[in-house]
Amino acid sequence: MLAARLYAAKDLRIEDMPEPEPGPGEVKIRVAHAGICGTDVHEYFEAPRATHEPNPLTGATLPQTLGHEFAGTVVARGADVGRAAPGDRVCVRPIRTCGVCPRCTAGLAHLCTALAAIGVTSPGGGLAEYVVVPEDSVHRLPDGLSLEQGALVEPMAVALNAVERAQVHAGGSALVSGAGAVGMGALFALKAKGVRDVLVVEPSPSRRAAAERHGARVLDPGAVDVADEVMRHTGGRGVDAAIECSGRVDALNVAIRSLAARAPVVMVALYSGPVVIDASVVRLAELALLGAEAYPDGVFERVMEHMAAGRFPTDGWLDHIPLADAVAGLYDVRDARRVKVLVDLQDVT
Ligand SMILES: [Zn+2]
Ligand SMILES: [Zn+2]
Repeated sequence: MLAARLYAAKDLRIEDMPEPEPGPGEVKIRVAHAGICGTDVHEYFEAPRATHEPNPLTGATLPQTLGHEFAGTVVARGADVGRAAPGDRVCVRPIRTCGVCPRCTAGLAHLCTALAAIGVTSPGGGLAEYVVVPEDSVHRLPDGLSLEQGALVEPMAVALNAVERAQVHAGGSALVSGAGAVGMGALFALKAKGVRDVLVVEPSPSRRAAAERHGARVLDPGAVDVADEVMRHTGGRGVDAAIECSGRVDALNVAIRSLAARAPVVMVALYSGPVVIDASVVRLAELALLGAEAYPDGVFERVMEHMAAGRFPTDGWLDHIPLADAVAGLYDVRDARRVKVLVDLQDVT
């Protein structure tokens, strides 16, 4: 089978390798689509980053097959697999947790201090024609959901968790910085929660167009002073929450300056290092700085319910490419030429 394997920074090879076979408790999936994520971009350009070796929890080493956002069809299962069966259409919750650290035992396994992920820091990944995963990571797709939607459940779960962290109320307002896939997901999740006014800040015209098409009021940070514009738009009050999906320090500070008193900013983007924020603005407005990481239990299920109800539409922000073009797809995501790139591993929809 073909797989996209990361050897080092800027060294991703499409290689022919043996198909993996499932051991006890594992299932083998024929992958239909796998998304390219900001995490993959960071790994590709900066490796070794998360992909240090060997991973203490999973033993993963480079080369690492990338791809942690994927969906496909179960084709085989190992011994002791009870729920999943060949023919099931599934998506995969890729995080691997230790089960014994204080966070795992406190019910916050998604914040496990040894957190690893399939396709990043665990053997195997979705940028391959077949992948073997533990049965407990598999979620069956409801009948109405396509495999394309299935490949979007993971990034939409990141976005939904970020919005749930903000606890913004129906009828309120919110700012989203960055209209990549997580920013689009945050827009959908905010709308799903009844937030009336969603402002999206994005420098890329094509990404702004995608957000606008889905009901956002869009702002170009190169053309307007975003915080001033937000204050004008909200009668001087500021927005009820900000979801920072860009990973840019300037965008984070603009988000902080755009908030209403006691409102939260949720940081869900990847930051390349420590960032400087204006702490006085935080203090004087009693703002809340919140992080959002992956997805607690239950978020995948809620995303699939929202998708089934049409609240995470897929039109206007997805591009499909073949596996052979995976490197070009990484550049397209890094350079914000596209919102979301799905790599097609099989001839299915
Ligand atoms: Zn991701
Ligand atoms: Zn743990």
